[in-house]
Amino acid sequence: MIHTEKIYDAIIIGTGIAGLNAAASFGKDKNILLICKQNSWDCNTFYAQGGVAVPVDEEDIPAHVADTLEAGAGLCDEKAVEIMCRDGRAAIDDLIARGMAFDRDEKGNLLYTKEAAHSRNRILHAGGDATGRYIHHFLMRENPHKLLYNSTVTDLFIENGYCHGVRVFHKDQFRNYYARSVIIASGGVGSIYEYHTNASSISADMQGLCIEKGCDLRDMEMMQFHPTVFIHNRGARKQLLTEALRGEGAHIVDENGKRFLFEYDPRGELSPRSMVSHAINDWKQKTGLEVYLNCSMFDEEFFRNRFPTIYFNLRDLGFNLPQDEVPISPAFHYAMGGIETDINGKVPGVENLYAVGEVASTRVHGANRLASNSLLEGLVFSRRAVNDILKRDVYFQVKAFSEEEEPLKKEIDKELKNRLRILMWEAAGITRERSKLESALEEIEKMLKKDIGKLLRLRLNTSRNIVKSAIYREKPLGAHYII
Ligand SMILES: Cc1cc2nc3c(=O)[nH]c(=O)nc-3n(C[C@H](O)[C@H](O)[C@H](O)COP(=O)(O)OP(=O)(O)OC[C@H]3O[C@@H](n4cnc5c(N)ncnc54)[C@H](O)[C@@H]3O)c2cc1C
Repeated sequence: MIHTEKIYDAIIIGTGIAGLNAAASFGKDKNILLICKQNSWDCNTFYAQGGVAVPVDEEDIPAHVADTLEAGAGLCDEKAVEIMCRDGRAAIDDLIARGMAFDRDEKGNLLYTKEAAHSRNRILHAGGDATGRYIHHFLMRENPHKLLYNSTVTDLFIENGYCHGVRVFHKDQFRNYYARSVIIASGGVGSIYEYHTNASSISADMQGLCIEKGCDLRDMEMMQFHPTVFIHNRGARKQLLTEALRGEGAHIVDENGKRFLFEYDPRGELSPRSMVSHAINDWKQKTGLEVYLNCSMFDEEFFRNRFPTIYFNLRDLGFNLPQDEVPISPAFHYAMGGIETDINGKVPGVENLYAVGEVASTRVHGANRLASNSLLEGLVFSRRAVNDILKRDVYFQVKAFSEEEEPLKKEIDKELKNRLRILMWEAAGITRERSKLESALEEIEKMLKKDIGKLLRLRLNTSRNIVKSAIYREKPLGAHYII
């Protein structure tokens, strides 16, 4: 017997840009349940700094498509990229019409900045370098739907090719919720890497669960590492220094002041992320020198206004910006690969199940994401998924599933989780070697055979998938640098 208050039109897993925009797209009259692991703001969306890429006008659409395809190194789905760029302008205009305030000049014109591998300035930003926080705040303020905080989805009810709902761990209890459609918007995989920029709730569990349910993940070897991260702060989430800093003129130098990136790529600081990450790693190893981000060319007042988040965060860590150089390293940042979907976010083979945002693989990013395209992807494809759901004549027969769940955590998990993070960083990090990947795979298989909790098993499933995909792709491509 199912209580009717536990049946929804849709359940949305995640309160980042993809989940919240999906909720907004349903309209107020639908009965929607949003679920997030901790606070609603503990998501990557909240921490996005640089901005959101969008064609400046109709004429810019082909150029944005071309830049995205070039960064994607031949692995993009061209149709999906065209949809993102074409619908992206309308999605942003809609967001602005609803009241979202992007930064403007004194005449009221939208300000566009530049980031690496974009052929022109087309990145909108808000609050200087607080774009994600502003968008998140705006979408939360708009949200009319019920939101379940501090709740982890631990299972998807999939039977005979239909998804019926989810099991949730909330306040020390398991509860089942049922819906006509389930949208997974649970973000990337940050916590499986030793060094990363991601929110603490981003731990690859939904990808691991989808594997167990027979859904395919795609392009999981394609993991992006951000080149300019301060990794010496305490806490798992490392401090990102947005690409927009380089876009607006910051330099990467070694301790002798040499701008060594030009030895790797004539575009220097404006080379694609994977190139800059690889060059920093290589230069450090080759020369033994420390590498820094130098922002001293910026006027102090301009810097404080344009990059307030970085200014204050780094000040708390003892840096006086823009004068001080900040030691930098690459760190895991973004998953291009994810749960395979079609161009409407639908998961093939399972009716009523969708995946949108970073957790999904629509193939808009291909082998390497163009900077600031992910917020745009989240906006565009969450709306498409909802439109698809609203169009379909959804089959839904309420069916009760057991509320029993296996243990989520066991005593040995913590130690293994830490080991996994190191393993992934060393074997499936910036530079990969087949032999290291193979021994990582062996170790992951051994961990999976131990008596571990479900959440660790899900992380391990995803990690195994990344490592296997990296072994399978023998030649370097995009973000996958294998030697
Ligand atoms: C520091 C940083 C800066 C960035 N800067 C930019 C930028 O300038 N421009 C850009 O385009 N992109 C940027 N990105 C990438 C971009 O922010 C993300 O790709 C995007 O925000 C992902 O949105 P999302 O809605 O898919 O997921 P997220 O915003 O990560 O949200 C995931 C949600 O899923 C929930 N969740 C996860 N697992 C479960 C579970 N099992 N049960 C219940 N809930 C769950 C979480 O609690 C969270 O609410 C940046 C990323 C980081 C980390």
